[in-house]
Amino acid sequence: MPVTPAPPPPVAGLIAPNIPGVSASPDRVWTATLAVFRSIGLPAPAGARWEYLPWDIPVDENGGTIDGVADITRNVVRLNPFVAVGDARDLPGVFAHEVAHLVSYRVETRAVDDEGEEAVAESLARDLVPVIRKRLRLEPLPDGAYSYQQQVRPFERGTFRACRVSMGPRARAAAVERCARHTRRAFLLMGQAERANALAVWGVRLPGIAPRPHVHEWVEAHP
Ligand SMILES: [Zn+2]
Repeated sequence: MPVTPAPPPPVAGLIAPNIPGVSASPDRVWTATLAVFRSIGLPAPAGARWEYLPWDIPVDENGGTIDGVADITRNVVRLNPFVAVGDARDLPGVFAHEVAHLVSYRVETRAVDDEGEEAVAESLARDLVPVIRKRLRLEPLPDGAYSYQQQVRPFERGTFRACRVSMGPRARAAAVERCARHTRRAFLLMGQAERANALAVWGVRLPGIAPRPHVHEWVEAHP
């Protein structure tokens, strides 16, 4: 097992200082994230924890290091603090995305860079970030910085459209959106075949995700 170094202090401070109303430390955010998932019936595995990804350990002969945001095993989320929040993503958003993967992987192991998996993980993160931030007594974000737009937009439109069809044209938009959120949670807990079927029924096609070879090599070497 490689050692997992802590980031240098300035980065640890950057990733999440405890500023009342603004940000919370990673451990506080992690605890709140797990609690929010469990409160809506999406169980993270027992002993789920987070740690820093060993981002500075070379993974190829040229000294290249892991360039991904996170690596997930069955109950551990490993974050690269430089990348994870370096693109200005909110830490609750990052954790919610990765915890969604943990929950999903309890149901079935998914392929790396699976479009449906990324779409549902990021979509759930968007749904849950306001709840997590409220639990931490943080101010709401004006508009969170999120990723995987290419997958998330068609996925969210598809779930909304499916609910609109089943509820009829007279249903209120808020009720349809509530239905869509439940549908996304159900999607997270589906097996791979069920997911493919659901996407086909909803008429949703998700574009592919570009491969990140360093991450894949490292993950294969450290199952
Ligand atoms: Zn992901």
